[in-house]
Amino acid sequence: MNYKNITVAGSGVLGSQIAFQTAYKGFQVSVYDINEEAVSRAKDRIQNLKSYYQRDLGATDEELSAAFDRVSFFTDLSEAVADADLVIEAVPEIVKIKTEFYEKLGKAAPEKTIFATNSSTLLPSQFAEATGRPEKFLALHFANQIWTNNTAEVMKHPGTDMNVFNDLMEFAKAIGMVALPLHKEQPGYILNSLLVPFLSAGQMLLVNEISDPKTIDKTWMIATGSPKGPFATLDIIGITTAYNIASARAEATGDEQHSKLASLLKTEYIDKGKLGRETGEGFYTY
Ligand code: NAD
Repeated sequence: MNYKNITVAGSGVLGSQIAFQTAYKGFQVSVYDINEEAVSRAKDRIQNLKSYYQRDLGATDEELSAAFDRVSFFTDLSEAVADADLVIEAVPEIVKIKTEFYEKLGKAAPEKTIFATNSSTLLPSQFAEATGRPEKFLALHFANQIWTNNTAEVMKHPGTDMNVFNDLMEFAKAIGMVALPLHKEQPGYILNSLLVPFLSAGQMLLVNEISDPKTIDKTWMIATGSPKGPFATLDIIGITTAYNIASARAEATGDEQHSKLASLLKTEYIDKGKLGRETGEGFYTY
């Protein structure tokens, strides 16, 4: 393993999970965020993760304290990356914030440091130039609840050095992920390239009154041996997110079916408090 010291920049929902998982697997981790308040929230978030590691992975108190002790916190970027082999960026999904962050990072980090973005929807080529080191830059995309949903999509942009790509694949495995190589840039990576059209197709069958959610799910599950259909999956993602996607699509394309879908999700589910698993009811009752 070529990496020892890892910096995680942005310590929100995903950044704090990435930092703790990396420390849990034995790496020294520096967490960077913009101010003391954000750092203090990150410490709380990381402390809260401990109970999930106990419940889901059977982690012991000693293992969890040792992991926490391997994490240090910084509000000064130069200090946070002083000896970093790898910086994993998990700052907000806003182009301006990420671009400015990479411009600063490119100047602050030593020459050896590799940069990886956890961006869900933005392509690494968009920021490659701002990093000042495009060959040492690529995407490393995690799923929420990284300790159990342990996919790591590793994606090149056209200028990424192949050795850097291979090293990052090894790193992803070393922190307990199933490392999934993407050799070319793809919006949505592998997962969302499959999932978004699948969920959309299911919802179109509903909105066009072809069938009902349970029948649609049952067809998919029995015929493919899959444990869940599109509507059980939507209940996990949350109906609010499904509604936001449908309305954005309706607005962007003027598509009538998506506008019908958005209004169905709003009146039949959101307005009735049926937001999915989180509220105990969505397409199914839990
Ligand atoms: P979040 O809003 O929870 O956290 C963002 C963090 O970045 C905050 O702690 C904020 O203080 C910090 N921040 C803001 N400006 C900064 C700056 N200039 N420099 C450093 N830190 C800064 O966001 P999140 O959900 O953790 O998402 C972060 C990234 O991870 C996004 O690119 C997102 O697409 C990606 N992602 C999120 C999920 C998810 O399920 N939430 C899953 C996969 C990938």
